[in-house]
Amino acid sequence: MEGLTTVTSEFEALAQQYEHADPASILRKAYEMYEPLTFACSFGAEDVVLLDIIHSVHPDAQMFYLDTDLFFPETYTLRDQLIERYRLNRLTQVRPALTLQEQAHLHGDRLWESTPDVCCNLRKVNPLSSHLGAYRGWITGIRREQAPTRANAQVFEWDHKFAMVKVNPLVKWTSDQVWEYIRDRQIPYNPLHDQGYPSIGCAPCTRAVQAGEDPRSGRWANHGKTECGLHK
Ligand code: SF4
Repeated sequence: MEGLTTVTSEFEALAQQYEHADPASILRKAYEMYEPLTFACSFGAEDVVLLDIIHSVHPDAQMFYLDTDLFFPETYTLRDQLIERYRLNRLTQVRPALTLQEQAHLHGDRLWESTPDVCCNLRKVNPLSSHLGAYRGWITGIRREQAPTRANAQVFEWDHKFAMVKVNPLVKWTSDQVWEYIRDRQIPYNPLHDQGYPSIGCAPCTRAVQAGEDPRSGRWANHGKTECGLHK
């Protein structure tokens, strides 16, 4: 218990120190202190920004994406564009243990409709958990204003769920800052963002939202679920 308190205080102090730092400085500090680190790329607007910054700080950085086999075709196209633009050779595709057919056979067809929590565990949380075992920490593109569940996220924090460092260099950024960065650098992004999809996940669990709606309300609509379980 005492060890956990010490670890938590270390991250609180670091988070305070870097609260107002720019993402590149946060990343430099993270790579200096906590290698091996890996970046979880979901190909959303925040993640293409973070990928660009990570690439400038550490061109050989480790990164991965959780391929649930259920992405929109536009997401796979964006992945290929990013691989080409940044010449990514350390982007690991992390797959679920079960194919969609095996999952349907064992747990029922269209599990995302009946029990999305179980589907997210099988296709996202469990593969992430296994993959992160090789690292000391992970880097994510979450922002505080994205959802109440993310409002208290810190630049550096201890991830109790995965028992490792979690680095969130964009926590303080607004949506406008993200899009300004994308436009300035002409970074490829998912065209679905221009069609009413502010947050893009698996195709069966993502719908477009109307102007003024909560940006994450298009995820798991009708299920009262707002997170897949990767972020507390
Ligand atoms: S987002 Fe939907 S389809 Fe994707 S893993 Fe979760 S429940 Fe399954």
